[in-house]
Formats: sequence, C-alpha cells, structure tokens
Amino acid sequence: MTVIEANIREIKRRIADAAAKSGRSGEDVLLVAVTKTRTPEEMIAAVEAGIYDLGENKVQELTEKHEAVETGLDKAIVKKCINWHMFGHLQRNKVKYIIGDVHLIHSVDSLRLATEIDARAASVHRISEILIQVNPAEEASKSGVTLKDAKPLIDAIASRLTNVKIKGLMSVAPAADDPEDVRKYFRLVKELFDGLAAEGPSERLEMKVLSMGMTHDFEVAIEEGSTLVRVGTGIFGERNYSGVIQ
Ligand SMILES: *Cc1c(COP(=O)(O)O)cnc(C)c1O
Repeated sequence: MTVIEANIREIKRRIADAAAKSGRSGEDVLLVAVTKTRTPEEMIAAVEAGIYDLGENKVQELTEKHEAVETGLDKAIVKKCINWHMFGHLQRNKVKYIIGDVHLIHSVDSLRLATEIDARAASVHRISEILIQVNPAEEASKSGVTLKDAKPLIDAIASRLTNVKIKGLMSVAPAADDPEDVRKYFRLVKELFDGLAAEGPSERLEMKVLSMGMTHDFEVAIEEGSTLVRVGTGIFGERNYSGVIQ
C-alpha cells in the first residue's frame, strides 16, 4: 500500500467516526483531496486509491494538472469519474479557463463573479454548480461574504441568473491551534445553511452541500454538520511551495 493510500484510509476512518457523532455515516461526507502543489503522480495515486474528487485553488494549476492527470490515467476513467473542485479566490477574467472542466466552484462571494460564471456557463450550454463562500469570523485576510450578507447575495443570484445553480455553502475557519476554538464558526455556518434549506429547493437553489473542514479541523466540522471536507496535508503530507506555480 502506498503512503497516500494509507493516509486516505486513515482519514476515511476518522471521517466515519466524526460522522457517527452527528448521527450520520462516513458515506454522508465527501472527501475532496486538495491537490495544490502536488504532482500529477501524487494525484494519480490518490485517484487509484479511490478518490475521485480533486480540488485546486489556482486556475492555472487546475487546468495544467487536469491535462497531466488525464494523460496519466486511462482517459475513460477520467472522463467518467473525476470531479474537479475549485476553491480559493477566483478572478473573473479566469473563469473562462475552467468553466468546462469544473464540477463545483466553492468560492463565489459576489454577484459580479456569479454573473461572469453564468455568462461563461451559458456560452458552453451548461449549468454551473456553485457554493457561496461565507466568512463567519469576518477575517480581512479571507474571501467570503459575512453571515448576514449571504442571504441577499443568494437571493440576487437565484433570481437573476439562469446558468448557475447554488448547491450550498463553503467556509474556511480561522487558523487555530485547537480546532475546538473554531467550532462556533462551523455552527454559525450550519445554522445559516439550515435556515436557507428550510425555505425549500427551487430551480436555481438547492442547499445540499456544506463544504467545511480541512486537515486540522475536519472532525469538528463534520460533528457540526459538514457534508464535504477538503483535505490536503492529511493525504499528501506537508506542502512544499518551491517550484510550483504560485
Ligand atoms: C489548502 C486548502 C485546503 C486544504 O488544507 P490542508 O490543511 O492541507 O488540508 C482546504 N481548503 C482550502 C480552501 C484550501 O486552500
């Protein structure tokens, strides 16, 4: 077994344990492998270990490695199975490069960005699935709308744009040595999520995905209701930023 495969097994076990604490099963939580700075070979090892959801936070990295991973794997597997996730700040002028490749964009935090995604999706006859990024601690260093601005943004997107579909919320908790310190933020985002879900689904809005939790805090996030965790270091080890596209 490769180290990557062993790490994935261990993370899945921890996901299942955390899910059990919130009365769910590990199957209810999607594990997305965060592959920023990782080589195509490492990414292929993760796919071969059964991870079909890969996430990047830079447009150029996503498009370049998408190519390389597809070349390394049997094309039929890739086309059928791999879901590419985009998170991290997305510039409007780069949306066109990923629109045909990306399964879910996690980092929508303005009507202008959503409008660009909508236009690009329309031009390739697609409906793009998006999450609204919220910044519950209102950290200046992070993207995302405040908890109170989320609903007005969602209403504006859902009422005006026809080629995007809002699938849920995403949040990155503040860095903390003890993940217990950020539990309150996960809880606030879950409350917002539940409030929006209670309004019922519509054609452009369906609250299904709650993307919260990374290597150091995914268990707390799952206990608070996360349905998707974004794990990089826990699968691939520490990141080395030298020699990668920044
Ligand atoms: C890098 C990154 C992650 C993964 O972080 P790890 O600590 O390596 O698990 C998750 N979410 C986002 C938005 C990231 O940029």
